[in-house]
Amino acid sequence: MNDLRDLYQDVIIEHGRRPRNFGLLDPADVYAHGKNPLCGDRITVYMNINDNHISDVKFDGEGCAICLASASLMSEHLKNRSIHEAQTLFETFHQLVTNDQFCLQDDSLGKLVILAGVKEYPARVKCATLAWHTLLHALQQKQSIATTE
Ligand code: ZN
Repeated sequence: MNDLRDLYQDVIIEHGRRPRNFGLLDPADVYAHGKNPLCGDRITVYMNINDNHISDVKFDGEGCAICLASASLMSEHLKNRSIHEAQTLFETFHQLVTNDQFCLQDDSLGKLVILAGVKEYPARVKCATLAWHTLLHALQQKQSIATTE
């Protein structure tokens, strides 16, 4: 079990150092800014939407390893998903990182399950969910700032 935990941490550290899909998407159909004042994380999520599917997703900004790893894993996981799927995945992911009683019944979250451990660190939950809150804002085409507060 310790080995597994180490492996998970490795993935988080690796994605935090070299986030996938990092950078400006220009032009982007929708985008939103998000910030987590508690930690100082600030990111922008950009997406292109085709036929109600996320055809491309990128993000940039700065944040801690958990914030960047979560955004990186999210971006990999959401490409080519429908908007409806993305919203459902947000709900599932939120349960995963906040609800002690929650038991994931399927593999719908893929590698994102790695982040389940943040549940034990309430302040870190905001780091892990910032990208998702920002994603939802972008999907709702809100040009405002998403915040974890
Ligand atoms: Zn953070």
